[in-house]
Amino acid sequence: MATWFVALFVILLLSVGSAAAQDAPGTDAPSAGAAGIGDPYFDLLGNGGYDVQHYALDLWVDVEARELRGIAMIHAAATQSLSAFNLELDGLTVEAVSIDGEPAAFSHAGRELTITPAQPIAVGAEFRAFINYGGQPRVTGSAMIGFSQGWNFAPGGVVVASEPDGASSWYPVNDHPLDKATYTFNIIVPAGLEAVATGVLMDTVTEDGATRFTWEMRQPMASYLAAVQIGNFALQETTAPDGTPIRNYFPVDDFGQGQRVFERQGDMLVFFESLFGDYPFDVYGVVVVDQPLGFALETQSMSLFGSSIIMGGRMAEEVIAHELAHQWFGNSVTPARWQDIWLNEGFATYASWLWFEHDRGVEVLDRIVREQYDWVSGNWLMEADQGDPVDQDRLRRQLFIIVVPPGLPPARDLFNGGGVYIRGGLTLHALRLHVGDDVFFAILRAYYERFAFGNARVEDFIAAAEEVSGMDLTDFFQGWLYDPLIPDIPQMGLERLVEDAS
Ligand SMILES: [Zn+2]
Repeated sequence: MATWFVALFVILLLSVGSAAAQDAPGTDAPSAGAAGIGDPYFDLLGNGGYDVQHYALDLWVDVEARELRGIAMIHAAATQSLSAFNLELDGLTVEAVSIDGEPAAFSHAGRELTITPAQPIAVGAEFRAFINYGGQPRVTGSAMIGFSQGWNFAPGGVVVASEPDGASSWYPVNDHPLDKATYTFNIIVPAGLEAVATGVLMDTVTEDGATRFTWEMRQPMASYLAAVQIGNFALQETTAPDGTPIRNYFPVDDFGQGQRVFERQGDMLVFFESLFGDYPFDVYGVVVVDQPLGFALETQSMSLFGSSIIMGGRMAEEVIAHELAHQWFGNSVTPARWQDIWLNEGFATYASWLWFEHDRGVEVLDRIVREQYDWVSGNWLMEADQGDPVDQDRLRRQLFIIVVPPGLPPARDLFNGGGVYIRGGLTLHALRLHVGDDVFFAILRAYYERFAFGNARVEDFIAAAEEVSGMDLTDFFQGWLYDPLIPDIPQMGLERLVEDAS
């Protein structure tokens, strides 16, 4: 995600601390799967006891009535002997559930949907759950951005952006990045509207006044990256210089300007391939909805932008590169826990600076790093206030709030702009200067290759960096990822003027 706000999402702490209780391994007696997957920050997110392989979602969308009706087929494998298991579904009503063709009992409290099959499911067994559901998606999320996470009916269509936990507003889901799966979307809309989803468009059939769009995502996808956008779009089909197909969906009135604003995307794609490895998915492209969103989101293989991107300029170019880079860092390599969000946002932020370095020269990168360091270190305030010494204690306290250490952002501030994004990007530049260019890019490639199409923790990146460099980087990462105040970058003569409390 890219944001033009420092703090975007206000996330309710569902509870503090302890991981969800796990069933003891090695027992054969069927038991209920855990109500949470074990995320240390959000103990009810995701669920235990099974691993989803594939979601097939049939969605009937009534834009006028603002209603959604769905049949979700969830193909999963039991990782324990299951007497019952949970899915997340928020604000919609479940009408019927069956498992492998047999009706199953269910109860629904808050967003926890508990399903009890007629017979227990054996450990290792694969099963198919069918869930019929529908209603009016509930509006949740932050009033600050005027936009709710998950499924939003907008004038003339639908806008979906689910990071971090909005997927359950539109389908029953094991809603945690740790359980990635492939997807089929069958979206049925009134004829004349278009439905654009994450994946490859397989089929379009119009009959009886309705059109069904079938989209497939064949690579594993985290639930927050699944999306459907509905409206009227003009389609540009092109290819990147390496042949990767690119499909861009623009608002009809912005078709020409949209093509101009996104014209470097193919060059960015091959540049990132040269640094990180092959582009992970079958296709790429963007959908620009006819709404000003105030953010963009790297929905898998089909990034989402609001109409303000059409204005172009350097900010637009940075965000376009940022969402594309997420296809490697975030979408292919996905955080194992939400606290690992630096692996998404620090990397996508730095990748966009690398694009500017590649395209405009090393002095442009140098300027970005100096400006951003000045900003997140608090130096700008110290420098501006020479005649009247700034109260260091007050400044330090403010910096802790505005710029969190990127390695472990607080649960309520995961998308902290100054900390996770900017200081997170500076962390990678400081690492590059510390180990040298060759080693740094070898680290990125080794880390990416090791965790592609899977999940990683911050500790996994640190381990890869130490392995590839042959260096002990404990102090380096302690300073950059976890210490409250940002370290110096001695190679550039950058020093933090705010003093440590110690
Ligand atoms: Zn991002």
